[in-house]
Amino acid sequence: MITIGKQSGNHKWMKLNSHHVCTHCKVIAYELKIGQMTLKRGTNPIKTVCQLAPIKIDFDYIEIIKCDGYGKNFLGLVEGKIKKVIKNNPKLINDVRGVWIQGAYKPIKILTNEFKIVKK
Ligand SMILES: [Zn+2]
Repeated sequence: MITIGKQSGNHKWMKLNSHHVCTHCKVIAYELKIGQMTLKRGTNPIKTVCQLAPIKIDFDYIEIIKCDGYGKNFLGLVEGKIKKVIKNNPKLINDVRGVWIQGAYKPIKILTNEFKIVKK
């Protein structure tokens, strides 16, 4: 079983009767010791870090490394392309899985392994 600190992993815990649930990703954990959350047996280790919590983005631009998305909305998203990150849109949540940019027609999410951060 996986045990993490209550403040780590970006989860936002809500206490229910016998357990806690993350209000972002719904992962379930038990506070067997104060301040330590033991994830429910069988929980995918990737969920040690909340996959759905909004993260604070301290950069404005990304550079595309590769992009596996296809379709007209992904037109022009080639290696080396610099794109502005969409921030402060409550419907477009940037999280550990990726960040939002404007695609050719509508916003699209670029996965974490598909870009690098450009500091300006
Ligand atoms: Zn979570």
